[in-house]
Amino acid sequence: MAVAEAVKKNAYEAALENFDTAADALELDYDTREIIKYPERVLEVSLPVRMYDGRIHRFQGYRVQHSTARGPAKGGIRYHPYVNLDEVKALATWMTWKCALVNIPFGGGKGGVACNPKEMTQEELERLTRRYVASILPLIGPERDIPAPDVYTNPQVMAWIMDTYSMAQGYTVQGVVTGKPIGLGGSLGRNEATGRGVFFSVQSACTHLKIPLKGAKAAVQGFGNVGSIAAQLLHSHEARVIAVNDSRGSIYNPKGLDIPKLIAHKKETGRVSGFTGAEEIQPEELMGMKCDILIPAALENAIDSDNAPQVRAMIVAEAANGPVTPEADRILEEKGVFRIPDILCNAGGVTVSYFEWVQNEQHLFWEAQDVYNRLERVMHSAFAEVLKINLERKVSMRTAANMVGVGRVAEAVKLRGLFP
Ligand code: GLU
Repeated sequence: MAVAEAVKKNAYEAALENFDTAADALELDYDTREIIKYPERVLEVSLPVRMYDGRIHRFQGYRVQHSTARGPAKGGIRYHPYVNLDEVKALATWMTWKCALVNIPFGGGKGGVACNPKEMTQEELERLTRRYVASILPLIGPERDIPAPDVYTNPQVMAWIMDTYSMAQGYTVQGVVTGKPIGLGGSLGRNEATGRGVFFSVQSACTHLKIPLKGAKAAVQGFGNVGSIAAQLLHSHEARVIAVNDSRGSIYNPKGLDIPKLIAHKKETGRVSGFTGAEEIQPEELMGMKCDILIPAALENAIDSDNAPQVRAMIVAEAANGPVTPEADRILEEKGVFRIPDILCNAGGVTVSYFEWVQNEQHLFWEAQDVYNRLERVMHSAFAEVLKINLERKVSMRTAANMVGVGRVAEAVKLRGLFP
């Protein structure tokens, strides 16, 4: 199935299925389910942008607020050709349970624009971003809904978001967006936070399964911000990253790839292919690689019912959002593969986003080590909490993680009562 089709078909259905499984395990009543299951608000916007050649191109954009029960909606903005409303709804839903799981005072949201930033100039991207922000302006704000980076958006895009919002308000509002450049009120450690959080959760899983991290073999699918930083941290803790890929190719070295050099190569050439000290392999070989830790760090549905039977890893660490379809999840369960579910594994990003927002609200900035220490505590304790439910209730790590997240949101809506 083409990736676009797979993304369209499954993501939101999978999100609803995750919810139902957790709600059943929690024995949640019907009324509470009706209140918390579906997105609170959905906005679809049409974005005409003047392109480099003088013509107008129209892009489709979205912002979904799934929940504001525990605080402002929170979640990234994705720029990718496959972005569609169902995908954004799924991603917003997962953000709600993720924020609740790590117990930060946010709900869940997500935004996206269907576009291909790889084929756009910086000026076009800036115009698109500013037009998008102007169109979703009534929804966002530091107490309402706080965007952040996601696939193919970065600190520069966040800077344009902050500037556009601030221009409309008439004064500078740092807390409207996280993942900003440091010079504009960004937090130290935010850029690496998702990859660092993935590393902490892999560390916890290895301790639990008694797999020594030193010498452990890892394969990483996707070598963007998250995949490359997780790989770098594994490498610096003497794990062997034996295979890596990106959208343009896949490489392999059984002795372990030199990750700092690979990051430099990717920066220079825009791809992992062509790296000296590695052989090129087919993308499907990576998923079936015999290794201890497999890290899908790209898009949804990377592991589906077609390739799940081939997975030979002990641990699947879901650095991406929704990388394992529900059918594939059942196959991995039967094979005894330990899965670190996405809302736990990749929660480091939004956790440090919360730290950034706190620093912006307080106008007081923390040292990098404070950010790392607090992040480590949050990740290890969330892992321990999920593992406890997994062992005691004999449910999967995914269901356990969703039970914590859904349970906290259910508690919040019960306490608030129903308006009007
Ligand atoms: N896009 C990231 C995620 O999916 C980060 C969201 C945020 O920091 O708000 O978790």
